[in-house]
Amino acid sequence: MHLRYRFMRTTLCVAVLLLTISSPGAAAVSQQKKLEAQTLLEELITYRTAKGYGQVPDMVDYLEDKLLKAGFSRQDIVRLPVEVEDETVVGLIVRLAGKDDADLKPVAFLAHMDVVDALPKNWQTNPFIPTVKDGYLYGRGAQDNKFGVALLVSTFINLKASGYVPERDLILAFSGDEETGMLTTRQILNHPFVSDAAFALNSDAGGGTITREGTPVAFSMQAAEKIFATFILSTSNPGGHSSVPQPENAIYELAQALLEIKNLAFPVTFNEITRSMAHSVADREGGEIAKALRTLLENSNDNDAINVIRQYPQYANMLWTTCVATMLEAGHAENALPQNAEATVNCRILPDTGGVDHLLEKMEEAVGSSSVQITQHGESVESPASPLRDDIVEMLQQGVALNYAGVTLQPTMSSGGTEGREYRRVGIPTYGAGSLGLVRPDDSRAHGPNERIPLASFYKEMDYWDYIMRRAGRGDIK
Ligand SMILES: [Zn+2]
Repeated sequence: MHLRYRFMRTTLCVAVLLLTISSPGAAAVSQQKKLEAQTLLEELITYRTAKGYGQVPDMVDYLEDKLLKAGFSRQDIVRLPVEVEDETVVGLIVRLAGKDDADLKPVAFLAHMDVVDALPKNWQTNPFIPTVKDGYLYGRGAQDNKFGVALLVSTFINLKASGYVPERDLILAFSGDEETGMLTTRQILNHPFVSDAAFALNSDAGGGTITREGTPVAFSMQAAEKIFATFILSTSNPGGHSSVPQPENAIYELAQALLEIKNLAFPVTFNEITRSMAHSVADREGGEIAKALRTLLENSNDNDAINVIRQYPQYANMLWTTCVATMLEAGHAENALPQNAEATVNCRILPDTGGVDHLLEKMEEAVGSSSVQITQHGESVESPASPLRDDIVEMLQQGVALNYAGVTLQPTMSSGGTEGREYRRVGIPTYGAGSLGLVRPDDSRAHGPNERIPLASFYKEMDYWDYIMRRAGRGDIK
């Protein structure tokens, strides 16, 4: 049974009124509508939609009811249930139908309804009781990604209420297991509302950061992801008594192989997105990082520059594929020669560089020993980078400019982790466009304790999505 938490709405409203920051000029959405959207987000936080709690269908019931009341027809709301390990999770698709004679492909707007679980004992507030404090809304999913669900649904409801009919279908595509399996994402992609989308905008990626002092740093638009791939390296020997060591030893062989993996250097490879990222990091950071990046943009083989960047892993990871040992298991008794030794190596592969097969070849070549087996563990989704289309970049840039004039949108590649990869893999260009504003480094708490969203940013995003949806619905972007 789903235990619903109730909270003190009156207290909340007073707090909200005190903390509301209005932005005249940019505001296309009334403050009343913004508060309604906040209430929706607060309701969504009360559902513990983490794996194993079975509450995704309840949350979908709630959303469906809201959408029906707002005038969406049953045919425009699609539930896609999937059984995952004795639990039903549900994907949800909602259509804001375009004009009858529209022959443009739809645009999909993505968010996910599930969350990573949160343990109340690790939080200062209860993660499933939304709490407003000091201009923030606290709760699991406040940022990742019920924030996106609430914004997109609220904007859809507002567009419907205003009588707006787009030139093409606009589609909400919400997965129910993004954090754990993305099986609902695949179901959603098979549905005709979504399968031929012209492009998709993901509320769960991209965003803005500001310094602790409040200066905007950059807004990012995620257009690519590295490919996540895990490998198992294993060796085995006949074993025997440890008092009679043999020339072959599973642990030594594996250790040798791991050192080869450690030294395996992947070439610097730029794509359209990382080239742009490198330029912007260079402009921002200055000093030796800037010098090294600019050198590599000219000559990607410059060893001196590569050695400098190696000291900055946060930038290095955008330039090359990385592999790192993450787990180890070997032997069975302190007085026996090991019969088996096994290591787990996790890699993040640059898109469009040959994928898993090419990487496996490189690893085998580096290890150079037939007694070490290398096999892939689990599945990896190879997805290409999405093209940096001028029309889409311009639309998103305009959306950001509504609230943050003069700040430039920066295309980015993330090191893996959103369902954008599932869309890109089937040929739908996908952009992380959750233009989350005013997030300080300390506000990035997705998956961790005390997750929160600055309410001022939330309100601004209402104007942002209103603009983006109307703009995407206009039909001049193919
Ligand atoms: Zn997420």
